[in-house]
Amino acid sequence: MATPAHTVFDSLHSGVAAADVLATDRATPAELAAKQRQRLICLVQAALQHSPLYRQRLHGVSPATVRLDTLPVVTKGELMQRFDEWVCDPQLKLAELRAFTADPLRIAEPYLGKYVVWESSGTSGQPGVFVQDARAMATYDALEALRRSVPQPLKRWLDPMYLSERIAFVGATTGHFASYVSIQRLCQLNPWVAQVMRSLSILQSTASLIEALDAYAPTIISTYPTVAALLADEAARGALRHRPNEVWTGGETLSPGVRKWVEKSLHCAVRNSYGASEFLTIGWECGQGHMHANTDWLILEPVDEKFRSVRPGQECHTTLLTNLVNTVQPLIRYDLGDQVSFGRQRCACGSPLPVIEVAGRHDDALTMLDQHGRPVTLLPLALTTVLEDQAAVFEFQLRQLDGHTLELSLPQSGAEATSMMVRCRHVLQGLAHQHGLAPIKLIGKCGVTLPRGRSGKVQRVVAAHPAGALAGRGPQM
Ligand SMILES: [Zn+2]
Repeated sequence: MATPAHTVFDSLHSGVAAADVLATDRATPAELAAKQRQRLICLVQAALQHSPLYRQRLHGVSPATVRLDTLPVVTKGELMQRFDEWVCDPQLKLAELRAFTADPLRIAEPYLGKYVVWESSGTSGQPGVFVQDARAMATYDALEALRRSVPQPLKRWLDPMYLSERIAFVGATTGHFASYVSIQRLCQLNPWVAQVMRSLSILQSTASLIEALDAYAPTIISTYPTVAALLADEAARGALRHRPNEVWTGGETLSPGVRKWVEKSLHCAVRNSYGASEFLTIGWECGQGHMHANTDWLILEPVDEKFRSVRPGQECHTTLLTNLVNTVQPLIRYDLGDQVSFGRQRCACGSPLPVIEVAGRHDDALTMLDQHGRPVTLLPLALTTVLEDQAAVFEFQLRQLDGHTLELSLPQSGAEATSMMVRCRHVLQGLAHQHGLAPIKLIGKCGVTLPRGRSGKVQRVVAAHPAGALAGRGPQM
């Protein structure tokens, strides 16, 4: 097959990665552990050879005898501060990458002709920048395509390429975010994907989003749990008429209550996945409804406050990620900030991959009231996207006080904070206006120490009421 020159793709790596993922699905736990071990050795070798930062951090470590639990923990702040020494290709410079990700016209464009680049949101300071080569993308593609349980197996067998589907991605489409970059890349790579896929921005008003969904009538909606809950609300009140067959969720924690509500109201199957900018597909759901971690290509270590490992099933403070895919920008014992716990037993579906449960990403949807007292939902993803992307503010807490009032706290003070607050007011009022809310009341507080949750992450968007209290929907979170 001819490969478009303007995408990061290697057909040889893709074939090898796909065959390997399929073989692992039938492996024994011992074979899985051996693969993981071999890949860890290769990763440590690459890091020692090509990353000045890791050469310093892993001084004296021998790849062949490496013991992961003795290696130092790394954080996003430290790695981003020393980005140019962290990466294994000296051509990669943070200043140039920041200029690239600042340009929305370059989303999914191959960087230096050979890398896929995306940025993470700035839950702890400045956004992270992540660079992957064709080999890493081939592995992510294979994990994403081959490890997803399907609600209608016969239909998928007859139509493995999803050609008869219409897929709507509803998310942040204004920046170089991992999910949107991946979708844009897939569309460039496969003309048939572009035919069956449409991306819809969550920044538009709920009314126009509903109109677009009713017009496109997607069979599959891929989105965030808070967006899926909003669509379920809109379906329940009769505004959204279309019903998809499947809703795929990811990016935030999906609670059992929201899952049930979406299944019931949209009358569809829900499939959840767990990914991060640091590793695109960490976990996927099997037919038994369990989340399996792709431990052939990553290592997760649930740890306590002092980064000591916790026993299976025990609550952890955070989770360390070792990414065995990416050797351009090694992540070894990286503090992911999510709370992952491992199940003790092997899943009845037969997969050798362990079952995990994930917590840790909770931002609330805000139910505001318009001038007629009607509820209007502002999605957390829309709020954080405009504050990060349009106001360039990354550390904040937006707290709802009532149906018309929000309080925005920033850690900065002085003139810097004043100008940040002006930008925040401007973008938040713009978003409120777009959603048909009369000017909202916005109280600004500067020089605030942002309250951090157990995981160390700030909950950035906090609702005044339990979800649905204003909208009259039953308790569900
Ligand atoms: Zn399973």
